[in-house]
Amino acid sequence: MSFVLPELPYGYTELEPHLDALTMQIHHQRHHQNYVNQLNNALAGTAYASWSLEALLSGIDQLPAALQPAVRDHGGGHHNHSLFWTVMSPKGGGEPTAELAAAIQQAFGDIATFRAEFTKAALSRFGSGWAWLVLQADGQLAVTSSANQDSPLLQQQIPLLGLDVWEHAYYLKYQNKRPDYIEAFYQVIHWPEVSRRYQLAIRAVQA
Ligand code: MN
Repeated sequence: MSFVLPELPYGYTELEPHLDALTMQIHHQRHHQNYVNQLNNALAGTAYASWSLEALLSGIDQLPAALQPAVRDHGGGHHNHSLFWTVMSPKGGGEPTAELAAAIQQAFGDIATFRAEFTKAALSRFGSGWAWLVLQADGQLAVTSSANQDSPLLQQQIPLLGLDVWEHAYYLKYQNKRPDYIEAFYQVIHWPEVSRRYQLAIRAVQA
């Protein structure tokens, strides 16, 4: 088994004007494809090539030390980007609803406070990395950020919403204006998919 680049659920132009088509195309076809290729190269001919991506990341300590950096960087890159594409939509924006909204209100007080914490996580990540809404093993939501391509799964946290703050994600359109890119992201967040991920995750940690 080898990992493959997933198709985007929309066209490269469809997140315009919030995310520009050239950035989306390069990000998906080159950056994400490279993580997939490097992960496959690292696992080729090993017993770990049959593991799921989630098992590789959450069980990274069980892997040979020589394999761990490639799984962390390229496996994380593949998993993070695969999530990222699905939590955006041309019909995105608005606010979380139903079960997820209630959980966010319980964890953060209200949606606006959650959003402020998520923005702060995205802004304060120095250099390259991600901002996350995760479900912790204790069933609580948390906002976190990670460096490079580190997946929340490395910390036994389930990622629900992720924002890529590597410059490759925004530099062509936004240059140094990361705050503007973060604001644009809120206009395309596909909350139904985040809710779907929350419902799967909360059942998994309660099982
Ligand atoms: Mn990226």
